[in-house]
Amino acid sequence: MTTASLSQELFDRACRVIPSGVNSPVRAFGSVGGTPPFIASASGALLTDADGREYVDLVGSWGPMILGHANPQVVAAVQEAATRGLSFGAPQAGEVGIAEEVARRIGPVEQLRLVNSGTEATMSALRVARAATGRDVVVKFAGCYHGHVDALLAEAGSGVATFAMPGSAGVTAATARDTVVLPYGDREALTALLAERGGEIAAIITEAAPANMGVVPPPVVEGVGFNRFLAESAHAAGALLISDEVLTGFRASEEGHYGIDGKGWAPDLMTFGKVIGGGLPVGAFGGRADLMGLLAPAGPVYQAGTLSGNPLATAAGLATFAGLDDAAYAQLTSASTALQQLVADALTTAGVPHVIQRAGTLFSVFFREDEVRTYADAKAQDTDAFRRFFHALLEDGIYLPPSAFEAWFVSTAHTPEVIDRIAEALPAAARAAA
Ligand code: PLP
Repeated sequence: MTTASLSQELFDRACRVIPSGVNSPVRAFGSVGGTPPFIASASGALLTDADGREYVDLVGSWGPMILGHANPQVVAAVQEAATRGLSFGAPQAGEVGIAEEVARRIGPVEQLRLVNSGTEATMSALRVARAATGRDVVVKFAGCYHGHVDALLAEAGSGVATFAMPGSAGVTAATARDTVVLPYGDREALTALLAERGGEIAAIITEAAPANMGVVPPPVVEGVGFNRFLAESAHAAGALLISDEVLTGFRASEEGHYGIDGKGWAPDLMTFGKVIGGGLPVGAFGGRADLMGLLAPAGPVYQAGTLSGNPLATAAGLATFAGLDDAAYAQLTSASTALQQLVADALTTAGVPHVIQRAGTLFSVFFREDEVRTYADAKAQDTDAFRRFFHALLEDGIYLPPSAFEAWFVSTAHTPEVIDRIAEALPAAARAAA
């Protein structure tokens, strides 16, 4: 698509001066092929590219745009904040507002520190966990993505899944040795590891619900959810649980988190990003006050940031929180549910094997027959069928995540009229996938 287009021209220019033409790998359309449209503007549920083509957006900047693009209240808050200065490098009220808002909504978060990305959040949480326990090893699950932190890239999902990279070149052997990767949901493997090496393990890190290999809801066994099992296993071994809610936080459910079932346990540290910055660069990590108290300057764990707690970013985040009322979550739920049904109907009618999995309002579509429980399952899907489906939808003005391993993101701007536009395009795309 977009031959001899402005997007093509921009992409050609970009490829000369930016590696693969993009600033984050999955944007390059590497696994689906073709030229990525360069986006000129966005409003509500719609994107407009450099050539003036309009798309219904199901990426939502990979999560933050929960109130839709250029939401008037969020834009007004950022504009107002900008008139008061762009960055102070000194404390400002908006930071307190975000920390109070997160602490009020998420029980285990007693204290919170703001950073500029989810990657920084997980990197910093891991440092705190290592300092608190005096141990080095971290346990992660295959298919869970926690940003591009050296120690957490092994068998990560997201772009690493899209490009079929086992981890990343440039990570030292020593770092890789301190990371143990287990299959998601495998309780026996974790129990065996803890029996053998429990005393070395600083933390178990997990996505509250994996969504970077596609969406995999945490399995419940005899009434015990996987996250609770992880917390109890970690604590019995003197280790900590870090629950990564960068993607799920304030999106997957009205409660703000997806990982906690209220059965008397809690993660020790949690990480956030995306929604809490309303589209500007924000991440955060928080949890028990005794752990967060280890941070400098009071404590021995160094962590800092020139732009951390930026006033524009906190204004966008606070305006986003203000818009996330019950009605907003009801709208997200109904858009997500309607879309799942339409996709299932179209693919079933066209005879395309598929399974749709959800965690709250988050969902993804796997092009295979059976349920996906692990990264190995997620990788065993018909990515070629996805590629055909993706391009048919793109031609029809529907912009899906350009990878078979990603969640689909709706917003409060995905009204029934917008969903109707997607509904019109789905049958032909499903036939293309068949
Ligand atoms: N953790 C999870 C669960 C994520 O989904 C992501 C990004 O998609 C990150 C961490 C990293 O966040 P960022 O891209 O802001 O560095």
